[in-house]
Amino acid sequence: MVKEQINKEISCMDDFDPESLVPDQALQLIMDSLKPVQETEQFSIREALNRVLAEDIKSTINVPSGTNSAMDGYAVNAQDLPDTGITRLSVIGSSFAGTPFTGEVSGGECVRIMTGAIMPTGTDTVVIQEHVEKEKDSIVIGSDTKPGANVRQAGEDLAIGDLVLQSGMCMTPADIGLLASLGIPSISVWKKLRVAFFSTGDELRSIGEKLEDGMIYDSNRYTLYSMLTRLGVDIIDMGVVRDEPALLEQAFTKAKDVADVLITSGGVSVGEADYVKQVLNSQGDINFWKVAMKPGRPLTFGKLDNTYFFGLPGNPVSVMVTFYQFVQPALRVLMGEPYKPPVYVQARCESKLKKRPGRVEYQRGILEPDSNGNITVRKTGQQGSGILRSMADANCFIVLPLESEGIKPGDMVQVQPFHGLV
Ligand code: AMP
Ligand code: MG
Repeated sequence: MVKEQINKEISCMDDFDPESLVPDQALQLIMDSLKPVQETEQFSIREALNRVLAEDIKSTINVPSGTNSAMDGYAVNAQDLPDTGITRLSVIGSSFAGTPFTGEVSGGECVRIMTGAIMPTGTDTVVIQEHVEKEKDSIVIGSDTKPGANVRQAGEDLAIGDLVLQSGMCMTPADIGLLASLGIPSISVWKKLRVAFFSTGDELRSIGEKLEDGMIYDSNRYTLYSMLTRLGVDIIDMGVVRDEPALLEQAFTKAKDVADVLITSGGVSVGEADYVKQVLNSQGDINFWKVAMKPGRPLTFGKLDNTYFFGLPGNPVSVMVTFYQFVQPALRVLMGEPYKPPVYVQARCESKLKKRPGRVEYQRGILEPDSNGNITVRKTGQQGSGILRSMADANCFIVLPLESEGIKPGDMVQVQPFHGLV
């Protein structure tokens, strides 16, 4: 008898797959197995931008060190401020930033003062120069200045003993400035992570090579190089490895020696030339997962001895989506940062989005305000996992939950802005 139907296996085109993990579960499993870098190194603060702090920093001084004026004007005692009408005060000297007035100020007196200059003894308020009528050796002021106005108190920014920066923070320009304001020349940071990567595929050619029929330029290595550069890790580019088990084996063995993390792209699905799985099974402690997401369902994670391994799918958009959703948060934790969940915003979607239930989708979108200032999002054209243009044009992921059956124009959607990812 002739069969009427073939027995199909679940493919990456199917939406419901009982063996798939949801993205949150996959991320949790990854996070649970990470052990951050242990070694530290000392760097001068100018070289510490984007490095992860490996110590708590407490203030050893008050910032500002002395109570000083926030404006150009006249330093007075609040008791001399009139409740109504006007008062005349005699000007007995000047206080400049860096050259304070050293005398004492008594009732009925004041001192000319510049921004940043120390408040003279006996004063607690600055009347701004625009609110003063000048006479020869005196000034006339009105009742419009509040007691204590226009003065920055000693220690107002940071007081002695305040916790200023915490271990695990990634240093920003503001942090570097803060360290300088405390007079701290160098800090302890976690050692840089060494991340190796290679592409797999007989069809891949590097830039500069001739593109014969059926060949494509390898873009994943360039995308990965750029995403890793932003993270500030040490990068080891291992090039393209052909779809041959012996060559893959050699590449994995080499990566284990030189890197804390290895990332590969391609070769993890179920095609005839997808050898990554077979080779890894013999080399390490590896999990092959199907993650209920689109794009990016096949994902491999595990360890090759002490090296963490991420086997990403080959399609260029899948590489970026799986990198941002799984690899980047994992690398940040390995670099010494605490895990921070992604930030989502709600936006009104202006496009119709096609989707079938069963997978979380990361569609690429453009987030922008409409003419009323409301935040809207629209998709960036075709959403195939090989269409890198959809990423290049985008500034966010539109994240559609597992059960969603698509979006009509006007529906609200969850959006993950890219700026939170980099
Ligand atoms: P694979 O996972 O190896 O089956 O690859 C899936 C798809 O992604 C195929 O169309 C590949 O040609 C493509 N692809 C794989 N690696 C790369 C790469 N490094 N750059 C651009 N496209 C790639
Ligand atoms: Mg391939």
